[in-house]
Amino acid sequence: CGVAGVYGDKDAANLVYLSLYSLQHRGQEGAGICSTDRHNFYLHKSLGLVADIFSNSILKDLKGDIAIGHNRYSTTGANNISNTQPIFAEINKGKIALVHNGNIVNASQIKKELVDSGSIFMSTTDSEIIIHLIARNSKKSLIEAIIDSLSILKGAFSLIFMTENSMIGVRDPMGVRPLVLGKIRGGYILASETVALDLVEAEFIREVEPGELVIIDDDGIKSLKPFEKVEPKPCIFEYIYFARPDSIIFGKYVYDIRKEFGKRLAVENPVDADIVIPVPDSGVVATLGYSEISKIPYEHGLIRNHYVGRTFIEPSQSIRHFGVKIKLNPVPSIIRGKRVVVVDDSIVRGTTSRKIVKMLREAGAKEVHMRISSPPTKFPCFYGIDTPTRKELIASTHTIEEIKKYITADSLGYLSLKGMYECVKNLPFCDACFTGNYPTMYGDGESENKC
Ligand code: 5GP
Ligand code: SF4
Ligand code: MG
Repeated sequence: CGVAGVYGDKDAANLVYLSLYSLQHRGQEGAGICSTDRHNFYLHKSLGLVADIFSNSILKDLKGDIAIGHNRYSTTGANNISNTQPIFAEINKGKIALVHNGNIVNASQIKKELVDSGSIFMSTTDSEIIIHLIARNSKKSLIEAIIDSLSILKGAFSLIFMTENSMIGVRDPMGVRPLVLGKIRGGYILASETVALDLVEAEFIREVEPGELVIIDDDGIKSLKPFEKVEPKPCIFEYIYFARPDSIIFGKYVYDIRKEFGKRLAVENPVDADIVIPVPDSGVVATLGYSEISKIPYEHGLIRNHYVGRTFIEPSQSIRHFGVKIKLNPVPSIIRGKRVVVVDDSIVRGTTSRKIVKMLREAGAKEVHMRISSPPTKFPCFYGIDTPTRKELIASTHTIEEIKKYITADSLGYLSLKGMYECVKNLPFCDACFTGNYPTMYGDGESENKC
């Protein structure tokens, strides 16, 4: 999911709308904005794309100088309006709204306890438990109640809260999902990625640190680090695929890291070929790196229809199959008679790759060599990236040779884990989808809000 919030600007809702627009790649299922004029809260959310959900008149009704917003990206098909965010509630400590990116892995256990003792839930998301925990907390101050509540959560959460007179940003102690802080005109902005700040001409201050709470109110910014310190485990997949290349994530431009992955991929998996082409858009930057090192000319051999969303975000398998064809088309004059290297960021089920290889052969490719700018995806993610169950992940049940056969490529090469780490200077990251080394307990399987 994508989250954004603006504090202290009379155009808060409009600025959040623009931010969500630039974060559309982080979720396309639904979106919402909640604002406050420091007394009333105004909320609008719906299924669909940001640009389709909000009109001028809707934005005008989202009054006030504080607003938060959310782009939802779900996995398990709970494609319904009650699971969209922001979540708004009036509790004993006042009015509060919340947006969440990440996935809480002990959510269903906590939810069970809450339901058993009388809580009533309006959605099936893991995010709603946070509001219930805060409401039930006996601490007088809201901040203390938030800290207590978040302390029992395991997993990934980049959160933005809004109250009648403050905005609070939080990152889980491992810092799995990103969250950045910026200055905008007279106020402040929080967002998943810096591209949101770029669009609204906000100045990037810094990332919210893992385990940090930033409280923004009329007195300025206050920072707290209330949680037990653990080793940071930012998600390496943000670099590989999820974030936009023009964002600064975990201190580096995604573009630069992605290109390093491509260069390293070329060093590790060379092949004699005439052209190297990306699977657009996710393979583009790595392909530039591959071309630079291999000296194989870069071409655009597959053209993408830009009006189709990311294939994998569409929730049903039948749409996914349809999606590949609808999205990509080869350019035969580039492909015909050539030995083609095709670079993508990852292979999940293998269905996309298989279709791409077939398409390229039908367009006249003499050879098709698939190169993947990340290690084999063998394990599902429990922290907010949409991966299917283990048995659907082709690399968890097949060797590289078998995958090569399945996708019918002449050769297949992945970036090594060691190579990937060298590209990110061997800093600590979550790499569980490649290694199975989950930094917390597993998902408890029931939460639907992989966001
Ligand atoms: P496949 O070959 O497995 O059908 O699809 C691979 C494509 O899915 C790649 O182009 C990649 O960009 C995209 N993708 C990347 N990350 C994910 C993810 O987390 N889940 C899914 N389902 N697809 C992803
Ligand atoms: Fe990211 Fe993979 Fe870890 Fe999920 S399991 S947080 S996708 S690195
Ligand atoms: Mg892709």
